[in-house]
Amino acid sequence: MARSSMAAVIARAPGGPEVLELAQVSVPRLLPGYALVELRACALNHLDVWVRMGRRGRHPLAMTYPRILGSDGAGVVVDMAWVDDDRQLPVAIGDRVLLSPGHGCGTCGHCRHGDDNLCRHYSVLGVERDGTYAEYVAVPVTDLLPIPNQLSYVEAAAVPLTFITAWHMLVSKAQLRAGETVLINAVGSGVGTAALAIAKALGARVIGTASSSEKCSRATELGAEVAVDYSEMKGAVQDVTLGQGVDVAIDTVGSDTFLQTVEATRIGGRIVSCGATAEARVELDLHRLQGRMITFFFTVMGTQADLMDAIAMLERTGSRPAVDRVLPLSEATAAHHLLESRKVFGKLVLVPDAQYGAGRGAGREPRTTA
Ligand SMILES: [Zn+2]
Repeated sequence: MARSSMAAVIARAPGGPEVLELAQVSVPRLLPGYALVELRACALNHLDVWVRMGRRGRHPLAMTYPRILGSDGAGVVVDMAWVDDDRQLPVAIGDRVLLSPGHGCGTCGHCRHGDDNLCRHYSVLGVERDGTYAEYVAVPVTDLLPIPNQLSYVEAAAVPLTFITAWHMLVSKAQLRAGETVLINAVGSGVGTAALAIAKALGARVIGTASSSEKCSRATELGAEVAVDYSEMKGAVQDVTLGQGVDVAIDTVGSDTFLQTVEATRIGGRIVSCGATAEARVELDLHRLQGRMITFFFTVMGTQADLMDAIAMLERTGSRPAVDRVLPLSEATAAHHLLESRKVFGKLVLVPDAQYGAGRGAGREPRTTA
């Protein structure tokens, strides 16, 4: 039986990491069509920093506070208020689940085409709704997905937002194929490490860029053919592609990195951007772009089907998300400082303090059935 109150990390107003406060709040109410999940782990994304600051780069976000942050979570289903008896339930009470972070209205044309991230009513856990930096979260039943047996709760929490984004970029948009060469910028980031796993599973060759030699060596251990500092992008791409340029490039950084990426992509290649963690304004020469005939895609997260396909890939290949470290929920402020320092490889994961120790690390736990 769920408790009436829980620990949660709340931003009461926009600001720096210090605005994050561990508080006792009510366990979310269970509305029709929703499930209550007892969270075992949640993961940080750069999105959380924007939500905490109330702006994305120069642009204010339409946020309301107080807000429980967190778009990624994994745990156990403890209650459900399912209303549609004619539809097959994706999971049952007691199941290990991870949460699909985005939710469309389900009835508009985009949603019915499966393009839920294009829905004008699309909402994201931890942004428009209270999120996963908590002991419990209530989410639509249709947003629950079973955790592959090989993944722990910590690993499962590290999957959703980055894998949905990376799968949408590489597979749904760029249609990366076996044998192609892909440039992954910020290869040590959450999206970068997810993209590396996906590109390897597809049989592509990966060139990574990162800000430190440690991140570069971790990326090559995980299967990148070459990983170099951003300043060495041009030379590495020329060497690996024999001067042709990469077939596909993905960028999450912006600024100079984006401009160098355009030059590193072959004529007729594809570039996908999912935003900019550095400066978002760049100066582009349209004549130069026209001559290179590159296709650009700009994406926000991805569809729930993208996430399901990515999870199926993890199951098939036995690969795991890269987890940098696990901290207790009460250290959310320190975790945000760490994330902003960019000294993280892969994901930062938070575990409720009561379970910190038991669920620690990237090891396996027995499947929970009760
Ligand atoms: Zn819709």
